[in-house]
Amino acid sequence: AREVKAEKAEPAPRDDEVRISSRERVIFPESGLTKGDLADYYQAIAPLILPFAGRRPISLVRCPQGRGKQCFFQKHDSGSFGPHVRKVPIREGDGGLDDYIFVEDAAGLLACVQMGTIEFHAWASRSDAVEAPDRLIFDLDPDEGLSFADTVSAAKHLRDRLSDLGLVSFAMLSGGKGVHVIAPLTPGHDWDKHKDFARRFAEALSLAEPDRFVATMSKAKRKGRIFIDWLRNQRGATAVVPYSVRAREGAPVAVPVTWAELDKAANAHPWSIGDAKALIKRAQSKALAGWGFAEQRLPDI
Ligand code: ATP
Ligand code: MN
Ligand code: MN
Repeated sequence: AREVKAEKAEPAPRDDEVRISSRERVIFPESGLTKGDLADYYQAIAPLILPFAGRRPISLVRCPQGRGKQCFFQKHDSGSFGPHVRKVPIREGDGGLDDYIFVEDAAGLLACVQMGTIEFHAWASRSDAVEAPDRLIFDLDPDEGLSFADTVSAAKHLRDRLSDLGLVSFAMLSGGKGVHVIAPLTPGHDWDKHKDFARRFAEALSLAEPDRFVATMSKAKRKGRIFIDWLRNQRGATAVVPYSVRAREGAPVAVPVTWAELDKAANAHPWSIGDAKALIKRAQSKALAGWGFAEQRLPDI
């Protein structure tokens, strides 16, 4: 049970800061973590998350009444986020333009938290160059019967096959069930080429080992296999960003790991919002320096 701090005063707002209302509202009912805890986490982690969440079109998972209640994905400005959440017009399928949202600083993150945001998801391109993707993301979704060790070895298999093609990649624990394998790219190709590469890469792996991997969405075909979700690589798709909190039990966090750490991980959610200090400390380690960044281009396959 959580201690009730009835007397705790809210910090006085400053002109340049976002005021968080209802700091005591419980957002994670299982652990008693509050909106204030969430805001404090994002404030502390801002320097780590902004290189991945900042200046990209984002989708938010908002759960204004807490994660047990209604949550929804939001990618457009409803008009209530305030000045720290910026807008970028993006061409829609029908040829029209629609405003998507992005943030560029801690105030932007906190403005989203103030609006009930728990999770930050981002496009694989920047808000100033939305048509030029700059990261491949393979979202590994294991079927329920599989162990986490199976997911880890699958991630390493993707790393090795990407390496065969000359691409450096990085692993992220999703904070949920799986692992994301991310290959940063120097922008310079379009979404068609990006998606085509991702699809063909995933299909090649499932063709080579059909009992281990599946590259189609179909639930029926996933039995006992790992779904290589390459659809994160199409225009308009998003993936959860490193250091985002997840709207799941225990307030877990998506965390970048080294390949050596991945080997030792017991599950995809070893860290949660109480670990901000530890996450900041480990991010300064030599092994994690440069995680998620590389200058490299898509090879022709
Ligand atoms: P896990 O490891 O548990 O699979 P995950 O973040 O990879 O966690 P997925 O369900 O595999 O979760 O989804 C992959 C990504 O697809 C999400 O991170 C999110 O960005 C995007 N996504 C999932 N559901 C939706 C949705 N309803 N609307 C928009 N994007 C979504
Ligand atoms: Mn996934
Ligand atoms: Mn998925």
